[in-house]
Amino acid sequence: MPELPEVEALAGYLRERAVGRRVDRIEVAAISALKTYDPAPSAAAGREVVGAGRHGKFLDVTLAGDGAPDVHLVVHLARAGWLHYREAFNSAVPLKPGKGPIALRVRLDDGSGFDLTEAGTQKKLAVYLVTDPGQVSGVSRLGPDALAADLGTFAERLRGRRGQVKGVLTDQEVLAGVGNAYSDEILHAAKLSPFALTNRLTDEQMAALHEATRQVLGDAVARSLGQRAAELKGEKRAGLRVHARTGLPCPVCADTIREVSFADSSLQYCPKCQTGGKPLADRRLSRLVR
Ligand SMILES: [Zn+2]
Repeated sequence: MPELPEVEALAGYLRERAVGRRVDRIEVAAISALKTYDPAPSAAAGREVVGAGRHGKFLDVTLAGDGAPDVHLVVHLARAGWLHYREAFNSAVPLKPGKGPIALRVRLDDGSGFDLTEAGTQKKLAVYLVTDPGQVSGVSRLGPDALAADLGTFAERLRGRRGQVKGVLTDQEVLAGVGNAYSDEILHAAKLSPFALTNRLTDEQMAALHEATRQVLGDAVARSLGQRAAELKGEKRAGLRVHARTGLPCPVCADTIREVSFADSSLQYCPKCQTGGKPLADRRLSRLVR
C-alpha cells in the first residue's frame, strides 16, 4: 500500500515530468473509482498541469483554471493502487469501461500521461475531481502531516487518542501519511511494542517515536525520490527492516522477526528490539486455543 513516502515521490515525479503540460483528455475505465461528477472529467481537457502535491496519502494534481477556478485531481491509491507514467500510449483509442487493472488514464498534450491502476478484486482506489481538495472528506479529516509535525504536535495528537500505538499511528485523523508498513518500521526504530498504549508512553518514548517517524519517513522519501515512478514499489520493500520480513533476522539484533495476524492485515516486529524479548500474543491463534 502506497504510504507517505511513495505518494510524495509520485508527486515529485509528476512535478518534474507533467507540470507545464496540458491535459489532452481523461478517460475513466472504472466508473466506480470516480467519486465525483461535477466537474466532469471532460472539463479537464485543455487545462495545464500546474502542480502536484500530497495530503497524507492522497495525491493532488492541480489543473489550472485559465480564469475559472483550478480543478484538483485527488487520488487515493488504497491498498493495491498505483500510478504508472507512460512516455507514450500504445493506442489513441479511448479506454472502455471494463474489468482491467486500469481505472483511469490521463493523456497529456506531448503524448505522455499516466494510468491509475489497481490490482486485485477489491476495488478501493478513489479519484475525485474537485475545485478544492478540502471537499474530499478523507482529506478534510486528515490530522497534521506525520513528517511535518513537531514533537509538541506529535505528542499531543498521539496522547489525544488512547489506544495501542500501532493503531493510533496509522489513524489518518491523528497523523496523516503513515500506514501498515511504515508504522512497523517506525515502531521498530523506536524500540516500542506495537501494543504499547499511547497514554502510557513516557516523554522519552514519545521523543524516540517522533524521531523514528521523521527518520524512517525522511529516509524513505529520499530513497523514493531518486527512483523513477515505475520502480518505486520494489524499492519500498528493499528499504524495510521488519515489515513483511516474518521469519527473517532483524537487521539490528539478528533475533527472528515475528508477526501478529488480524482479519485482513498483519504486523511484524522484533521481540528483542521492541517487546523485551517476549513474543506478542497472536490473537487469532490464542482464540483458537481457547
Ligand atoms: Zn531486533
